[in-house]
Amino acid sequence: MDINTMILVLRSLGDGEIKPRIKNLGLLYEINGMELTLEKINEYRENELLLPVSRYSYPACSTCNSTALHIIFECPTCKGRMLTKHDMIVHYECNHIAPADEFKSNDADVLYKCPKCRKQLSKVGIDYGRPGFGFRCEKCKFITQYPVIMVECDNGHTSNVYDLNMMIFEGYKVSGTVNNLAGVYEELVTAAKMLKDYGLKADVLCKVTGASGVVHIIPFILKDVEMNLIIDYMPNPNDAIQWFKIIARSIDLANALSIVVTDKPIDAHILTTFNTSRIRVLYNKDGLRLSELIVQEVLKMVEDQV
Ligand SMILES: [Zn+2]
Ligand SMILES: [Zn+2]
Ligand SMILES: [Zn+2]
Repeated sequence: MDINTMILVLRSLGDGEIKPRIKNLGLLYEINGMELTLEKINEYRENELLLPVSRYSYPACSTCNSTALHIIFECPTCKGRMLTKHDMIVHYECNHIAPADEFKSNDADVLYKCPKCRKQLSKVGIDYGRPGFGFRCEKCKFITQYPVIMVECDNGHTSNVYDLNMMIFEGYKVSGTVNNLAGVYEELVTAAKMLKDYGLKADVLCKVTGASGVVHIIPFILKDVEMNLIIDYMPNPNDAIQWFKIIARSIDLANALSIVVTDKPIDAHILTTFNTSRIRVLYNKDGLRLSELIVQEVLKMVEDQV
């Protein structure tokens, strides 16, 4: 923010006070130090890049469900929040309790003197006690070892600890889709680079929205031809669930031809489940590099169209 903007903001404040406020981000997911919001995680989940594997519960504000909470100490007597923490001394005779600093004597030969009754304290455990740390309310001067513990969210709602809501969040693992894509990512990038030399533009790992509004993560797509060409790699082509996904996507993306590259021969009964004019299987029986195979296939198709 530049100084001009700052001055305008300050002027808009009028008589209002600028108060410190603890802002934290609340719930986040972390992958190798990279922070992801719940929205991002949900997006990846919808794209089937992540699979929920466990559940965790977290306390959240009962008004707005924010998980960005911090603790507030309140004085049990006056509800004041201006508390200070001190090492305490209690003078048994007059029952005065105060921070040890306030008992310090100015006389060189006396260590502690009671600030209330002015008597000298000599023996700990007999004259005076050291109960440890305590909190003093700076508003009403009440001293306690047990302030009232309240919780405030980043939107400023205050509540009792036991009035908080519990929110359930899921833990995730990366899906087989991610592992499949990660395994062939370099090859797909290489294929896209090689096709660029032929004036063909291919995208690797891009999002395409289907007719249903669902966003699909496409491993490899060539858009510069009459019909979009999508290439998938399926290391286990006899897993029916993977085919259902490909078939569902092909219905959703009407203007696309899918080529599914496999390393293994595919069962005849699976081949009968889909429309071969929209989905084709490319069995890499010669063990070519995936990038070479893709380039070969794409060039063949583009030639056919000319
Ligand atoms: Zn709140
Ligand atoms: Zn108080
Ligand atoms: Zn005293």
